[in-house]
Order: sequence, then C-alpha cells, then structure tokens
Amino acid sequence: MPRSSDVVVVGAGTFGAWTAWHLRRAGHTVALVDAFGAGNSRASSGGESRIIRMGYGDRTLYSRWALESLPQWKDILADAGRPDLFRETGVLWLGHDDDPHVDVTARTLDRLQVVTESLDPADLRSRFPALDFTGITRGVFEPGSGVLLARRAVSAVAEQASGRGVDVHVAAVEPPAPAWRGEALSLSDGTRLAAGSFVFACGPWLPSLFPDLLASLLRPTRQEVFFFGTPAGDRRLAPSALPTWIDFRAGAYGLPDIEGRGAKVGLTALGPAFDPDRGDRTPSAEGLAAARRFAAARLPALRDAPVVEARVCQYTNTPSGDLLLDRHPDHDNVWLAGGGSGHGFKLGPAVGAYMAARVTGTGQAQDLVGLPAKRPEQKRTVL
Ligand SMILES: Cc1cc2nc3c(=O)[nH]c(=O)nc-3n(C[C@H](O)[C@H](O)[C@H](O)COP(=O)(O)OP(=O)(O)OC[C@H]3O[C@@H](n4cnc5c(N)ncnc54)[C@H](O)[C@@H]3O)c2cc1C
Repeated sequence: MPRSSDVVVVGAGTFGAWTAWHLRRAGHTVALVDAFGAGNSRASSGGESRIIRMGYGDRTLYSRWALESLPQWKDILADAGRPDLFRETGVLWLGHDDDPHVDVTARTLDRLQVVTESLDPADLRSRFPALDFTGITRGVFEPGSGVLLARRAVSAVAEQASGRGVDVHVAAVEPPAPAWRGEALSLSDGTRLAAGSFVFACGPWLPSLFPDLLASLLRPTRQEVFFFGTPAGDRRLAPSALPTWIDFRAGAYGLPDIEGRGAKVGLTALGPAFDPDRGDRTPSAEGLAAARRFAAARLPALRDAPVVEARVCQYTNTPSGDLLLDRHPDHDNVWLAGGGSGHGFKLGPAVGAYMAARVTGTGQAQDLVGLPAKRPEQKRTVL
C-alpha cells in the first residue's frame, strides 16, 4: 500500500521546502522528497550565499514578494536558532548614465514605500571607500536587504517543516511515465507515495521530468561564482564596511567577505546549457579571468587576490526570466514550481505561500508566473 498524504512536494530547494512548510502550516498532511536532501551541492539553492534585494525594475510582483519574504526568512531562521543565516549587509545598486534600470527600480521601491537612499558619486565614495565607482553616476542603497546563507537557510526550512510534521524523504522520485495520471509516485528506495496533489519543485531537473512540456521553456545554464581572499588583517571588505553590490549593466555583482570565506564575485551573463546531474562543476579559466577583471575594477584591494573558493551552479531560465508557477495542463492535481532564473532563492517564502494557496484552491493566479505567459521566443526582461 502506498503511504498517503494530502500533498507530495518533490524537491526541497527554496521553492519546494517553503511550499511544504506553508501547506503544513495551513493544516495539510505533506510529504517532502529530495533526491540528495535540502541544500545539496547540485541544487540551485545549495550555494553558500544568495542576495535578498527588494528592487526588481518595474516587476512590482517580485518586489512585493521579496518584501513579504524577508520577514518570513528572519522568523524561520530565528525559530531554527540560526538568525545569523541572514546578514543585513545592505544592497547597493550601481547606476550608469545609459541604463534606466536603477532609476526604474528606485521609483518602484518608492511607490512600495521601501526605505532606500539615493546616493551621488561623492556620497558613494565617502560611504563605501573600498569600491571604485568609475563610470557610476548614481547609487541606490537598500539598507535593510542583504544576504541569505543559502544552503544552510534552506536546510533550516526543511528541518522546521519536518518539526511541524512534514514527512521528509531523501530519495529520488522516478520520472513520471507519459501515461501517469497523478495517482502515486515511486521513490528510488521502493516507497510509493500517494497524494491528492503533487508539486514538482525540481529546479533544473524539471525539463528532464516533463520534457514535452518544459524542454523549450526551461533552460538550465552553467554559472560560476568566485570567492577572492582578502588581504590579511584588512577589514575594508568585511560586511561592516562593504555592502552587497549589483552592477547589472556591467554584468556582475559582489558580496562582502562573510565568515572569512572571501569576497564573492558573480557574473550574470548566461553560460552554456548545463546538466545538473552530470555537468562539470570545475570552474573555467575564462570564468575566472572575467570575475578577476570585475573584482579588480570595482574592488582595488582584490587586484592580486587569490581565489579561495569557487562554485559552479546552474540557473533554470525561463525565456523572460519570470518564474514558472502553475498547474500542469494535462493533470488537474499536478503543479510545477520552478524557473528561478538566477533570482528565485530570496522569493521562496512568497512562492511557497502562493503555491500552497493555488494547490488548495484558496489563491488567485498571477498571470506573470503562469505557463500561458511563457513563450520560447521571448527576450529576457527580468533582472
Ligand atoms: C550562481 C547563482 C547565483 C544566484 N544568485 C541568486 C541571488 O543572489 N539571489 C536569489 O534570490 N537567487 C539567486 N540565484 C537563483 C536561485 O538560487 C534559484 O532560483 C533557486 O535556488 C531555485 O530554487 P528551486 O527550489 O527552484 O530549485 P533547486 O534549489 O535546484 O531545488 C530543486 C531540488 O529538487 C531536487 N530534485 C530534482 N529532481 C528530483 C527527483 N526526481 N526526485 C527527488 N528530488 C529531486 C533536487 O535534489 C533539488 O534539491 C542564483 C543561482 C545561481 C546558480
């Protein structure tokens, strides 16, 4: 006999773990299954750190969701006894003359009454002396935003869900056969899980689980991040002195030296297609050269810095960069949650609440994140 619950959630990344947590909090019985466990190194949520910012250009929905998510992250991390897994570093947007994105972001945040500071180049230089602001004409600072220590934070969510009674399994769900009608799933350990509804929150594995529907809409790409060692005894790159910074126009972002692991530099340009199971996670010489160029240009203290750590992860991109959160068109009781597109981690709490409400029939659909809004020929518009 299969074990039975109201909902089975497959995938304990930020989307799945938070969906399970919200469903359970609403009183439903829930099983949460992950092939390698929450926060594993192959998962997109398994990185050391992820930025939580409120700014999203004119995409008000994501700004709202980020605003709803931050207090939920703080609460759950406090309940888990790990409030330190959120670091309020502040997030600094770097604006260029020929790029309206930072201005549009500032206007949206003003409308939403998010506290921000608008800084001119002289302010920027005096507030953040470690950064080189060449080419920057304006800064917008979100003082309450910062960094989630991702793999540990998402593990904490899964643990909190388990503590509330979610039935957590570390096992792989066998890909559903084309004729599957949404009754029960088989796990690699031989267990069968039956449920009223199934949520597949499988990040970069979604296109291989549902190839006919998703292969043209979700594209996992290889992305590299590098951590540069700071000079001995030098506190200029510590979180107390250096904020998290974003220079989307130039294609880079950076985090301060958190926990002595080095100052992180990431590149936003989409890499080549990537297989989350077998893809090579050795950092490339070209990726390192590009990260080193950005690091040296923005943070002169890092000019000759050694790499102390590097990671290869994957974005799961939709064509526009909008999330994909919707019902499977062929199965009334099967739901898809993915398409994090390089910005989804922070939004886990709001995504989980949205999915829980949709699955249980209590929430309104948002067109932006629906399947019909996704078309392969779209250009990326979410940063
Ligand atoms: C380098 C990099 C930097 C990023 N920076 C940021 C940032 O600063 N801020 C931000 O908000 N976002 C950021 N992101 C994006 C963010 O990490 C992702 O959008 C988010 O983590 C996606 O979460 P997910 O739950 O959809 O997928 P995942 O975290 O990948 O979780 C999917 C889970 O499903 C499990 N699974 C898959 N198939 C099966 C199966 N058959 N059976 C059982 N389990 C299965 C996997 O083991 C995995 O744990 C970044 C991403 C990368 C790669």
